Amino acid sequence: LLQARDLHRSFGSTPALRGAELSVDAGEIVAVMGPSGSGKSTLLHCLAGIFPPDRGEVWFDGGRLDRLSESRRTELRRTSFGFVFQFGQLVPELTVADNIALPLLFNRADRKDAYRRADEWLTRLELDGLGGRRTGELSGGQAQRVAIARALVIHPRVLFADEPTGSLDSLTGERAMDLLTDLARAEGTTVVLVTHDARVAAYADREVMVRDGLVTSPYPVEGGR
Ligand code: ATP
Ligand code: MG
Repeated sequence: LLQARDLHRSFGSTPALRGAELSVDAGEIVAVMGPSGSGKSTLLHCLAGIFPPDRGEVWFDGGRLDRLSESRRTELRRTSFGFVFQFGQLVPELTVADNIALPLLFNRADRKDAYRRADEWLTRLELDGLGGRRTGELSGGQAQRVAIARALVIHPRVLFADEPTGSLDSLTGERAMDLLTDLARAEGTTVVLVTHDARVAAYADREVMVRDGLVTSPYPVEGGR
């Protein structure tokens, strides 16, 4: 479904990706692991079309994602991709229900229908009764479940998650991962998950390692460099 071929990307003189290759099948949950600064987030951003690579190809659903215009890529992200990040992704002034309904409203859904669907996702993420709360008032675990609901409400083809449990304690993080992976499997959503945490990666079907801007192997390299 999703492929990176020979991806290169630098920031100034810093090479973040140096020929990364990755192929993700439809319905697969892939964990991307590796040391800090190895290029995991950059790989995820290129795969998701948030920015194009300097060189190389990104394929999504049989087409070249990196060749789309900025506006077509934005449209594709809005309709086909969901995102969960570590921090600061919810609008704190808005309510929980507003935050979850927002992606649907961006996609021109009917307002009443959007809020009805937001409500269903609240139930699926065990957030019943919190729809009217401002997201700034939630616990970390609740806020992260709202972020998951907001990412999945559009039924994305791919869910991109960068350290989704990074700001949570381990028990809360595991609960969020249980829900995320159960829902993704139920919906057949493909997931690309960046994490430092081996326990989080264990939820995936497959793990890949990124080192120095390359996807080095499907297995952790003993001892490192
Ligand atoms: P972490 O585990 O700490 O999140 P990462 O594996 O996600 O690290 P990236 O964020 O992809 O690593 O960064 C790879 C390299 O690119 C690093 O050297 C980083 O400093 C650099 N880099 C990433 N984003 C930028 C940016 N916006 N501007 C400048 N340099 C950047
Ligand atoms: Mg990162």
